[in-house]
Amino acid sequence: MKRLAILGATGSIGTQTLQVVDAFPGEFEVTILAGHSNWQLLLQQAEKYHPQCMIVTEPAAYEKLKQENRNPGCTVLCGMQGVLQALDTYPVDMLVGAMSGAAGIEPTLKALEMGIDLALANKETLVAGGDLVRKAQQKSGAKILPVDSEHSAIFQCIEPDSKCLNKILLTASGGPFRTWDKEALYQVTPAQALKHPNWSMGQKITIDSATLMNKGLEVIEANWLFGVDYDNIQVLVHPQSIIHSMVEYGDGTVLAHLGKADMRIPIQYALTYPERWQSDVPRLDLFATHQLTFEEPDLQRFPNLRLAYEAIAKGGNMPCILNAANEVVNLAFREGKCGFLQMSEVIAETMAKTSFILEPTYEDYVQTDRLARQIAKERINN
Ligand code: NAD
Ligand code: MG
Repeated sequence: MKRLAILGATGSIGTQTLQVVDAFPGEFEVTILAGHSNWQLLLQQAEKYHPQCMIVTEPAAYEKLKQENRNPGCTVLCGMQGVLQALDTYPVDMLVGAMSGAAGIEPTLKALEMGIDLALANKETLVAGGDLVRKAQQKSGAKILPVDSEHSAIFQCIEPDSKCLNKILLTASGGPFRTWDKEALYQVTPAQALKHPNWSMGQKITIDSATLMNKGLEVIEANWLFGVDYDNIQVLVHPQSIIHSMVEYGDGTVLAHLGKADMRIPIQYALTYPERWQSDVPRLDLFATHQLTFEEPDLQRFPNLRLAYEAIAKGGNMPCILNAANEVVNLAFREGKCGFLQMSEVIAETMAKTSFILEPTYEDYVQTDRLARQIAKERINN
């Protein structure tokens, strides 16, 4: 039985991970469940999966969870400190990183340092601290299995020991505003942006998909996961979301990964790797798919993708600044405090104003993240 710690268990990826667990009785044991504030759902999950420990990162939710917990065999802990303590205390073979935001960096590094394999959905952690994550992984030899659908696709298309991988072709749906002109983009409301055409996901990533920041974060994620330079990562807008990404080799071969837009497929592959197990998720019907189309992304209408390329080109703590500013504007947009295109302006300004560090230490990253959030928030409040 593979023992799992699921961080972000109450979210979209977390709950779908538990669906994969349900599909294979006797194969997985859930030892740690962690969420942010939804203690009610965590409690329900604990009744079903009997973890040894549950954690919420929000103090008020912790008080409620502790009070309502009916399972004496299950310890309740609070905060990121609680997550780290749980990893030290309870046996885990794989950590599922399904929390959102750069808050995932501490438990990710901790798990890798302990040699625990990682099923990683939490792309912000790789964007903010990619080199720290890579160093920790190289040191312990723990595996990072990508859960993000494009990166799972690329991972499956990369041949072991391949010497002539030329390029990654990273597909993007283009989001709900793919065909909108710039004037119309100024008027976009949160409700419109929260309706993704092809995927049902958490709110933060849904907004990122509408601005194409999600694709920008994924370029940086691919850079760290596969060691491919950003110059050789090309984004293709593919509105059908059937090809989940491709890899081009030096002999002219292009390998593509196709499938239904269903996150349980890449989650399951990360959990069962290197094996591929049977699953009853809906099948892709290629006869119902009349065409597969590809467009170049428009960096004028979607400046966030351009900013992400600029951040990874600059290197150092710049992707961390980009990510922190984006987390701030993404929430501000959902709260009605920032316009759709204004999000890019605030990110660009934060990138210009936050001190650049070429070779940041862990402490530099923490400081950068804090400072960039502060600069972005001040800009929004003014
Ligand atoms: P979600 O908002 O549905 O869930 C996020 C989870 O993280 C929740 O359980 C929440 O309680 C927890 N969380 C939030 N803030 C936290 C904090 N500060 N500390 C600890 N836990 C916290 O989000 P999601 O859509 O499941 O996405 C999770 C991650 O997976 C994100 O990084 C996202 O980019 C990535 N991802 C998601 C999808 C998808 O289809 N949903 C696809 C690819 C990648
Ligand atoms: Mg993705």
